[in-house]
Amino acid sequence: MNPSTISVLFLAGLVIGLLLFYRPTRRHQCPYCGEAVSIDRIARPLWVKMLMFFLPTKSFKCFACMKPFLMIKK
Ligand SMILES: [Zn+2]
Repeated sequence: MNPSTISVLFLAGLVIGLLLFYRPTRRHQCPYCGEAVSIDRIARPLWVKMLMFFLPTKSFKCFACMKPFLMIKK
């Protein structure tokens, strides 16, 4: 493997890890507990902005289970 293949694999791994951590959803509710009222928009961390620049996402936090998640804009 040459260095560029390794860096592409590294980036792909980061994005997949991010998608597993910040579970993306299209609905206006928490993907973990289904809460639709106690969710609030939070600023996206810089690394989310850098890695998800190709996706029109908004970052939210659920205050019922305190987990962050991403919402993909329609
Ligand atoms: Zn929740």
